[in-house]
Amino acid sequence: MYWVFGCFYYLQLMIKSHDQLIHEKYTGILHRSFKTKLDLFLFNQCIAGTMSNEISIEIFNAFDITDDLIEIYQQAWQLAPGKKLPGNKLSVTEIDHSILEWEKNNPSLKSTLLSGYENHFKAIVFPFETFKEFYGNNSAERECHYCELSEMEFKFLRHQKGIYTKRVRGYEMEIDRLNSNREYTRENVVICCYFCNNAKTDEFTHEEFKQIASPGIKQVWFHRINLRLDNPIKSEEIPIEEIELKVDCNAKAWERIKKLPREKDELE
Ligand SMILES: [Zn+2]
Repeated sequence: MYWVFGCFYYLQLMIKSHDQLIHEKYTGILHRSFKTKLDLFLFNQCIAGTMSNEISIEIFNAFDITDDLIEIYQQAWQLAPGKKLPGNKLSVTEIDHSILEWEKNNPSLKSTLLSGYENHFKAIVFPFETFKEFYGNNSAERECHYCELSEMEFKFLRHQKGIYTKRVRGYEMEIDRLNSNREYTRENVVICCYFCNNAKTDEFTHEEFKQIASPGIKQVWFHRINLRLDNPIKSEEIPIEEIELKVDCNAKAWERIKKLPREKDELE
């Protein structure tokens, strides 16, 4: 009876923390999305010579990040300091400076635009319900787009001391943009682990990194999991990860862990 009550209590904790997790992730992508849009918006105004301290929420929200703009923006990042974009009288250093100045001089306009964008993001760009469906309900449903490991398998590795990072990130799946110069939309995002996200940076395209992670990184994880399955750590004191593992686990996820290829050759 107490056991049942205890499980219910832990389930409640899990439900609560899952809700918190989803909201945290959603708030994170909303702010990063705003930052991307504002950066591109200001860059566009700056190269057009139309920078202004009066921007309406409607104009900002309606602003579209086009492929052409992304290309020019990319070119600007590739230029050495002091160099100019073709046909532009400002150097990239001056463009950078103007954008920084705008941000310094317009903190209240920036927060007004953020509030307006927040509504726009929730209603059109990436509605919360769409995001919830995309992010999944539990660890077994979330799988890294690049190395293909599930959050469940990372939890197993954590529990079995198979993760060595000293950082706090890496416990849960993150959200990566296929094109980091675009906003977070359902079409522009994939779920990925912290390790792939961190290694990919903004250097590799998603196609390039997919080749690096699978079979490369995937093989390493599977090798670590297999070592732990052969010789599991058993502890009398059950750490919190294991409780979480049990509550969050479903039969499908365990089946998958146990069916991992035993030899590297068997990997795709
Ligand atoms: Zn990964």
